[in-house]
Amino acid sequence: MASVLNNFGDDTICAIATAMSDAGIGIIRVSGRDAVEICSKIFVSPKGEHNLASHEPNTIKYGFICDESQTEDKRIIDEVMISYMKGPKSYTREDVIEINSHGGMLIMNQILTLLIDNGCRLAEPGEFTKRAFLNGRIDLTKAEAIMDIISAQNNFALESSRQQLKGSIYNKIKELRGRIIYEMAFIESALDDPENYDLTGYPEKLKIVTEDVTKVINKLITSADEGKIRKDGIKTVIVGKPNAGKSSLLNALTGDERAIVTDIAGTTRDIIEETVRLGDIVLHVIDTAGIRNTDDIIEKIGVDKAKEKVTEAELVLYILDSTSELDDEDKDIIDLCKDKKTIVLLNKDDLQNDIKITDDIVRMHFSDDKNDKLPIIRTSMLKGNGLEDLKKAVSDLFLNGDIAPKQELYITNLRHKDLLKKSYDSLKLVEQSIDLGLSEDFFTVDLSNAYAYLGEIIGEEVGDDLVEEIFSKFCMGK
Ligand code: GDP
Repeated sequence: MASVLNNFGDDTICAIATAMSDAGIGIIRVSGRDAVEICSKIFVSPKGEHNLASHEPNTIKYGFICDESQTEDKRIIDEVMISYMKGPKSYTREDVIEINSHGGMLIMNQILTLLIDNGCRLAEPGEFTKRAFLNGRIDLTKAEAIMDIISAQNNFALESSRQQLKGSIYNKIKELRGRIIYEMAFIESALDDPENYDLTGYPEKLKIVTEDVTKVINKLITSADEGKIRKDGIKTVIVGKPNAGKSSLLNALTGDERAIVTDIAGTTRDIIEETVRLGDIVLHVIDTAGIRNTDDIIEKIGVDKAKEKVTEAELVLYILDSTSELDDEDKDIIDLCKDKKTIVLLNKDDLQNDIKITDDIVRMHFSDDKNDKLPIIRTSMLKGNGLEDLKKAVSDLFLNGDIAPKQELYITNLRHKDLLKKSYDSLKLVEQSIDLGLSEDFFTVDLSNAYAYLGEIIGEEVGDDLVEEIFSKFCMGK
């Protein structure tokens, strides 16, 4: 298990576990060796007894939180329900008490202060889950899944986090590690006891195993880009000259009148950011002030920002007013889109008699390697036409055309992907050593590296720093 276990203090922690806003109820969570003793000091039953310790574990009790230092008329802080989960059958494997109080910020803070005055320490973000991990109840991938469940923004993110919490990644990694350690053990035994273990033909057999394992790892690695897109969405920027229809596009995508639509050129000066759902794909859309050369200071700030946002974006939606000619400003925009996944929208398609820009004209201006694959969609934001084609173009560009997930297991966490890559590379080194006819002890080093990298994913071989870093991203009270 992780070396961090050794540094693990067993003081009693507390935190508000529900949202930091006024609500019907709030939950204050307490975990640690003295949880029962501390809560007993502040919890009083309707009969006036401080007897939490004698309560059955896994039951809920009604009573009052009282501040004994106050005069009798001011003593009762709140009327509460308290649940008591005795370790190790609890979230952290320690004694856990949850106080269900009224959900006002002031009242919850008073109860929290009372707990601290009576011997609790305020928990750090993610500390309850960190204890669950350090106490061996969950592995690191499950801990990460808990955070992902809380922050999931779409069905895919939620479902893949749920699977991860059930152990989908943990089990897969365990299985791969099992296969690697079997080979390591075999080599070690054979080198120790050559009389009873025969290594003739073994390298060939080992290569079949490493090829098989790297195939599985590779499939997981290649699932990561798609997994990330499905989980986190696509950073998208809308660009185009003033009046092309950028605000109208954003409104059509968001379904409201968020951006102000006007026919005076250059009116959308600020950057507007929206989260848009195209089916189950999330676009984080940034609408920009019209990209055009201008002396107007305010508008110029918008233009510079727009250029910056294009650099950061994963997808550019380039919208053109197809009733006006392509000009130098468009060429500047096309230049900006050069290295980006771009979808061109030829807007105002309803004005059929005035169309001046065709698909061919657009393709001519894009570079050779991009133009034949460039998705060009005819849209009319006025009539709401073209949005289905846009959805299809996005899924073609990012998800191989499949809106629905195809695999049962996706890697959605960059940390996992990086470690899978390292493990893959180590196994490839084993194959190289086999091909070079090196002796068996050469295989062991790289096999054990591959094994260790996989171990880092599930948290079996991780340092304190990484554990700190992962859990510091958690929310308070989790
Ligand atoms: P932006 O400056 O690029 O944000 O463009 P807007 O969305 O503000 O649109 C500029 C003008 O064009 C407005 O008067 C819109 O009503 C109009 N417009 C936008 N899309 C279409 C379209 O598809 N057809 C027609 N006929 N007019 C449109």
